[in-house]
Order: sequence, then C-alpha cells, then structure tokens
Amino acid sequence: MRITVTGGAGFIGSHTVTLLLEAGHEVLILDSFANAAEDVPDRVAGIAGRHAEVFRADITDPATYNSALADFRPEAVVHFAGLKAVGEAMENPLEYIRVNVGGSVALFQEMAKIGCNRLVFSSSATVYGDPVAVPIDEDHPLRPTNPYGRSKRMVEEVIEDWGRANPALSAINLRYFNPVGAHPSARIGEAPDGVPNNLMPFVAQVAQGVRERLSVFGDDYDTPDGTGVRDYIHVMDLAEAHLAALDLTGAGPGVEALNLGTGQGYSVFEMLRAFEAASDREIPFVITSRRPGDVATSLADPTRAADRMGWRATRDLEDMCRDAWAWQRGRNR
Ligand code: UDP
Repeated sequence: MRITVTGGAGFIGSHTVTLLLEAGHEVLILDSFANAAEDVPDRVAGIAGRHAEVFRADITDPATYNSALADFRPEAVVHFAGLKAVGEAMENPLEYIRVNVGGSVALFQEMAKIGCNRLVFSSSATVYGDPVAVPIDEDHPLRPTNPYGRSKRMVEEVIEDWGRANPALSAINLRYFNPVGAHPSARIGEAPDGVPNNLMPFVAQVAQGVRERLSVFGDDYDTPDGTGVRDYIHVMDLAEAHLAALDLTGAGPGVEALNLGTGQGYSVFEMLRAFEAASDREIPFVITSRRPGDVATSLADPTRAADRMGWRATRDLEDMCRDAWAWQRGRNR
C-alpha cells in the first residue's frame, strides 16, 4: 500500500515507518524535523533495508506539501505530526491549537482534495482526563484537563465531523497510554530535547549518569507503594498496532477510537527497580512533592483494540527497560 506518515521521523512515527517498510509498503514521510534528528530516515532504512521517501514540510503549511502529497497518491495517511509537551501547551495553548488542530485540518483538507479516505490518527489517553474509573475503556468520559489533551480531543472531534459529512471516511483514533522503549536494534528511539518530562527517558539518563537523580513526584498516592501507576507500552507494540489499524481502515468506512495499552500498571518504584535490573546500575532518587495535574493511576482497558484489530501488546516491562537502556547507551557514548 502507499502510505503517507506525518511525523514519520519522530519517536512512534519512526518505529511505525520501519515496520511499514519491512511489510513491503511504499512510505512517504512528511516531517518538519522540528523535533526529530535529520538522520532518522537513514537509520530506519538501515533497519528495514529499504528507504521511505522523505519530504520536509510543516503540516500547518499545506502549500509546501500539497503537490508532494498529490504526486505520491497515498491510499492512507498515518498522522503523528504535532506538539506533545503538556507544560509547554499550558504556557502556549494557542500554539498547540494552531499546530495540532490547525495543522491536522490543513492535512485533512489536502487528503479530501485527493480523495484519500483512510486515516490513522495519533491521539492520546490524555483525552480522558482524570479517570473516574480504571481500567479506562473507550466509553469513559472525555474531559481532558490540559490544552494538550484538549487539542488531541479537538482533532478527534474534527475527524468525527468529517466522517459524518463523508461516508467514505475510514478513520481510527488511537489513544496511547505511556509509550516507552525503543527498537531492539538500538538504532532508533526516543530523543527528548533537554530535560525529559517523562519518567522512562529521565530514568535512562540517570542510569547513564547524564542526570544526578530521579525526582519521584509523590509517594503518598492511593496506590500499593504510594507512587503513580501508569500503563507503559513498548513502542514496538504501538507500531504494530498502527499496521493493524491500517488494515482495519480497509475493512469499511466509519470513525472509531481504540485504546493502546497493555492493561497492566506499574508504579514509579517498580519502573525504577526494573530499570536498575536492566542496566545493572543503581538509580539514585529523591521523593519530592506531587507534580500538579498528575493522577494516582492511569490504566487502559485494551479489550476493544483486541476485538477490533486482533492486536494486543506482547512486550513486558523487562523488554521496555532493556531496549530503552540499549538505545540510551548508544546515544551518549
Ligand atoms: N514521574 C516521576 N518523576 C519524573 C517523571 C515522572 O516521578 O521525573 C512520575 C509521574 O508522576 C507519573 C509517572 O512517573 O506517576 C509517569 O509520568 P510520565 O510523565 O512519564 O507520564 P504521564 O504522567 O503523562 O502519565
């Protein structure tokens, strides 16, 4: 199949492109490289043994990529490109609307012009907001608590409206829980700019000696060991889910949302211990106050993704830590 992947040089995008190439698909990456390294497409080609086409463009500026998209004639689009830092979104919500919502609308208009009706959208479990019950299924109320989550929900709503107006549209909103890990080759992985906001890249940098110690944001939550519990999912499991979702878009029109998680939760301390075991390093930590906006437990009910796509996560916490550590070690040598 011919597939355009926006943000295909990013963390989840690059792993998905690798699997698409390995499966024999023709891929066009649209990426601004604003938050991705220039050499990612070559690294992906090194793993897959084939190249994707790469077109440098910002999704908010369709005049720069409409011809490239039309020439490529994608049968489907996987749309990852967007901004993803919650703190930054709180400081600059308008920018998040402009890029995440405006950029998506611009892309969808170009898809409509060329009659491309298959879409897989990179959404987030943040669209649920504070869980009213866990595990969280797709019918859980949608009440995002920050501008980042709201921007993701707005795009989902745009897609739902587009689907009502265009009965041929076949779109899947994939709601990721906590993506971690890296490709087992250690050639691609997560490359946060500056101080990582997320737990696993921070822990990896402490293990490496790049940062002194982890701050554990609160040990007084209502969880077994008092620290926050999350549904971490290996990026390779996520990437596989995108291929399954693309298959599902071929089964007929409609718009639906699917959770991507393992259904299994781990605390900050459990993550810390697993990473110590994987890296064979001690990871110093200090308990600090809670991070504003954090919830005690976030956990997916991944049943619907299994029912609809025959997909389920197969990699465990040990796999996640081992692959993240191999990637981290290769980066700052
Ligand atoms: N966390 C932490 N120290 C950090 C980063 C995160 O203790 O430096 C905790 C955080 O409070 C949460 C869990 O680790 O309980 C996962 O946080 P992350 O930012 O990775 O994901 P999210 O909060 O978006 O689920």
